Amino acid sequence: MFNVPTGLAIWCSEALTLALILLMVWRHDRKTSAYLAWCVGFALSGIGFGLVAARGMIPNLLSIEIANAIALLGQSGWILGFLLLSGRKFAWWTLLPVAIWLAGVFLPWINDSYPNRVALYNLASTAGASALAFAALPITGRPGKTRLQLATIFSIQACVCFTAALAIAVTQPSVRDAVNYGAAAALASAFLLILAFALSSRLIMERSERHLRALIVTDPLTGILNRRGLFDYFGHVRARARQSEGQVAALLFDLDHFKRINDLHGHQVGDAVLVEFARIVAQFMPKGGSFGRLGGEEFAAFVVIRDQVEAEAIAELVRTEFTRLPTKAGAVLVPATVSVGVAIAPADGADCDRLVSAADRALYAAKAAGRNCTIVFGEAEAAASVPSPDPTGGDLVPTLEDQIHALRRIGNLSRM
Ligand code: GH3
Ligand code: MG
Ligand code: MG
Repeated sequence: MFNVPTGLAIWCSEALTLALILLMVWRHDRKTSAYLAWCVGFALSGIGFGLVAARGMIPNLLSIEIANAIALLGQSGWILGFLLLSGRKFAWWTLLPVAIWLAGVFLPWINDSYPNRVALYNLASTAGASALAFAALPITGRPGKTRLQLATIFSIQACVCFTAALAIAVTQPSVRDAVNYGAAAALASAFLLILAFALSSRLIMERSERHLRALIVTDPLTGILNRRGLFDYFGHVRARARQSEGQVAALLFDLDHFKRINDLHGHQVGDAVLVEFARIVAQFMPKGGSFGRLGGEEFAAFVVIRDQVEAEAIAELVRTEFTRLPTKAGAVLVPATVSVGVAIAPADGADCDRLVSAADRALYAAKAAGRNCTIVFGEAEAAASVPSPDPTGGDLVPTLEDQIHALRRIGNLSRM
């Protein structure tokens, strides 16, 4: 026969230690409120089982009805922790275990019978473990491996508790046997719970890793992809273009005379213009495309297009909308313009570096053509060999070929 008070005392000290650790972790990372919910859960479980262990030394009401209710409320804390970890809110079914206990324990045929009380406790625990399994799974999207493992562990725990409740209810064992059933179920539950919380730390580590990975590819000012994130994405855009038998277009945007905006209105206003520009581009980005900030006042996008006209239309939409809407910075309106260089390549064999370099040449041509305009290099122009570097070392000096292209494109646009 199990020595129940010793077992309960061990669990009580273990649960309170875990609560203390979780409290310290939460103090270090207050944004993750799941830690606090789990901390409260373990504290309540520890206190509840501590009171159960004190049976005989304290009034029965405290060591039976209230003690078990507190312990089951601990389960609600764990369930809430998993909900919060998935960005979900408190739900009524979080309190199901304690509600089941309180609904049944005051019925005389349960209250007066130790085996029936153990069966009721295990029934309430079954609801708690099932709720934990449900809370561990995300509402939308596919659950990852760790979440599936967690849901499996909690489901096993629910089965163990239900089997114990059913066995006691059906066989109506002696008090001695009921203690053994109850203690076996509690031991298995405690083991599975510790396993589940070891897995939960892996879940949290995976979450922080995802967060760090997102930070690495995000531009902190505008919240869009940075150069690295954007270039990593090129393969996806090319694959989509292949699937839809379309072409890939690279659009390079460079805000015009941006230095003047900074000089005239200050760096902060300059930042606001950059944020506003990012917002406008995001608005016009077709599905399946990607857009990011290359650095400074330069942005780029990769999109899947059916033909050159579509690429030109996207670029022109962004350019005209940005020109039309001056950025509001406090009381001042800051007008700004952007030049766009576009290069197009067939999906098969599209090379990121060559495409961006061609779009860069188109952008130089747009700047040379007077700024606030779009120059598009079609497949043939984009595939043309890169002009040799200017021996004078000057930048923003377009080649003769670029200037001819620029003039041709402007002529085309004005006829559209
Ligand atoms: P152009 O029309 O030829 O492109 O001229 P420009 O003035 O836009 O180009 P230039 O390269 O001379 O200047 C870019 C300016 O962008 C200089 C730099 O101070 C500013 N800049 C770069 N990054 C940031 C930023 O994060 N915030 C702000 N406010 N300004 C930035
Ligand atoms: Mg620039
Ligand atoms: Mg510029």
